[in-house]
Amino acid sequence: MTHVAMTIAGSDSGGGAGIQADLKTFQELGVFGTSALTAVTAQNTLGVHGVWPLDPEAVTAQMDAVFDDFRVSAVKTGMLFSSDIIRAVARSLEKAGRPALIVDPVMIAKGGAHLLQREAAEALVKELIPLAAVVTPNIPEAEELTGTEIHSEADMEDAARRLLRMGARAAIIKGGHRTDERRASDLYVDADGNRMIFSSERIATKDTHGTGCTFSAALTAFLASGKELPEAAEGAKRFILAAIADGLGLGAGHGPTNHWA
Ligand code: PLP
Repeated sequence: MTHVAMTIAGSDSGGGAGIQADLKTFQELGVFGTSALTAVTAQNTLGVHGVWPLDPEAVTAQMDAVFDDFRVSAVKTGMLFSSDIIRAVARSLEKAGRPALIVDPVMIAKGGAHLLQREAAEALVKELIPLAAVVTPNIPEAEELTGTEIHSEADMEDAARRLLRMGARAAIIKGGHRTDERRASDLYVDADGNRMIFSSERIATKDTHGTGCTFSAALTAFLASGKELPEAAEGAKRFILAAIADGLGLGAGHGPTNHWA
């Protein structure tokens, strides 16, 4: 049986993040990838050189066209850019009967470019997090969404529980930004009372562009093909670790992770 996944995200012309990372990862993990583009970025390993958001109507039309014709097992969101696009996405998901949703709350690229307008974080909290089977912020994103500062594992857990209170069924706080820690540890909590830490060695590399997108795409692929959380989360952690360890050395800046399984 062919499982279908959808990514709602921005295009990265450099191919390391966004829609491109998501579709490559879906393919590697054996699920059929569909997409709704939210924005076009001109981008390479040195940074984001331009952002052109699409009309929210175009996002709705892409989503509705896919939902009208395919049985989509899991949907992920990445770069959504504006509160208008977020509202359009939420409406289309409601219309489609609330498919399993993975929210990667993409906000700022490593180089500092805003992939989500500042005022749109509130729409993310109000409109999308309540629909999420799982939300996957990194530390800065978790701090922004929950209004807390994260310095410890206890702070990560506090932020994760706040995300559950906002309506997400599960949260994974990715610890990769805590560079004071020797290991990279992600915290998983869910509304059923499970709590797990996925911990790995920290890999010294500059090729980490698109890690967040690739992690959440792998998680989406595992959920689409029938794995349950938190097993899917563990699989996604393993996939991203291998992807970072096998960097491709492309470009002069922060190169992409590879996407090969
Ligand atoms: N560009 C797009 C279109 C993205 O969706 C993302 C995802 O987070 C990024 C860039 C971020 O890339 P980086 O991993 O370099 O922060």
